[in-house]
Amino acid sequence: MSWQARIDAALNERRENHAFRTREPNEQGNGRWLVRGEQRWRNFSSNDYLGLSQHPDVTRAWRQGAERYGVGSGGSGHVTGYHREHARLEAALAQWLGFDRALLFISGFAANQAVISALMQKEDRLLADRLSHASLLEAASHSPARLRRFAHNDAGALRNLLAKPCDGQTLVVTEGVFSMDGDSAPLAQLAQASREAKAWLMVDDAHGIGVLGEGGRGSCFASQVHPELLIVTFGKAFGVSGAAVLCSHSLADYLTQFARHLIYSTSMPPAQAAALHAALRVIQQGDALRSRLAHHITRFRTGAAALPLTLAESATAIQPLIVGDNLRTQALAQRLRERGCWVSAIRPPTVPAGTARLRITLTAAHENDDIDALLEALYDACRE
Ligand SMILES: *Cc1c(COP(=O)(O)O)cnc(C)c1O
Repeated sequence: MSWQARIDAALNERRENHAFRTREPNEQGNGRWLVRGEQRWRNFSSNDYLGLSQHPDVTRAWRQGAERYGVGSGGSGHVTGYHREHARLEAALAQWLGFDRALLFISGFAANQAVISALMQKEDRLLADRLSHASLLEAASHSPARLRRFAHNDAGALRNLLAKPCDGQTLVVTEGVFSMDGDSAPLAQLAQASREAKAWLMVDDAHGIGVLGEGGRGSCFASQVHPELLIVTFGKAFGVSGAAVLCSHSLADYLTQFARHLIYSTSMPPAQAAALHAALRVIQQGDALRSRLAHHITRFRTGAAALPLTLAESATAIQPLIVGDNLRTQALAQRLRERGCWVSAIRPPTVPAGTARLRITLTAAHENDDIDALLEALYDACRE
């Protein structure tokens, strides 16, 4: 097959499965409203759970940082790109979350790839929850180690895999809160199973950090679990972008030697690190924002209980409504848009086949009005 024929075949397959993806530019995609051209919708699609992307402290820190330091870091942190703003943020994160060290990465995707590729060797194995994020599974599939996936949130299934012999080391991988389902991992059980098998545990808490646990310290803190590796990302509740890996001194030193995404990539702008530090302070004092979000979640779940759709078992900001069929999911999303609510239709391969869904995200930037308008739109859309 020629290059062109291969590309065309792949595109055609996506079209035939109603899974062809396109992107449209927005004027604004975060916060309460999604603005596109002359129109705006109530935004139930962003991961900006606390509304920090527009928080005045955060935008001011970024602006002042840019004025002070310029807009770029100038290079990899291994050359000239490691700024004292990075060092300060790393120290603050490590202290906040109770780890020796934190290392900043430009994205959660890069952090996951970097950690897995730096750690895993051929004789090792990676045991990952089968609903783990693409960045984890993809890194695993590129690694020479063996990947086995265990049934979603099933510590027993993990134990069965751990009981099988392995010549090398084992890394157990899970998310704190699952991005497409909104449910939480049984971290205490997974940690215990891992510890007993002398495996290391890596938790990607992209959707828990800032939102769950005392002071927003996330899923691990809430479950009193201290994994060997904690990945936190800043594109969700922090309202910015970037990520950090939290770990021991020796592991941080090891990643500084071997994490290729750190070594061969320009570090995040110092002004961004300053903005993240401001976001961290807002999160640390963010009980009011978190209780506002919790209130919206309860309001939504109470109202959505009688919908003819399956409300997922989720206590978090991610509130999926499982529809099943791809076309019906898209049609519902379209009807919601006609009624002023922007909700994403999530289809395979992002989620397992037959579980296409409306992925609704609630944020502290919403008003009660928004939740009520969404519920009304959902009842109308389902009735149609
Ligand atoms: C969003 C997300 C990532 C990727 O993080 P980015 O910083 O957006 O690259 C990784 N893991 C999980 C679970 C996520 O939801």
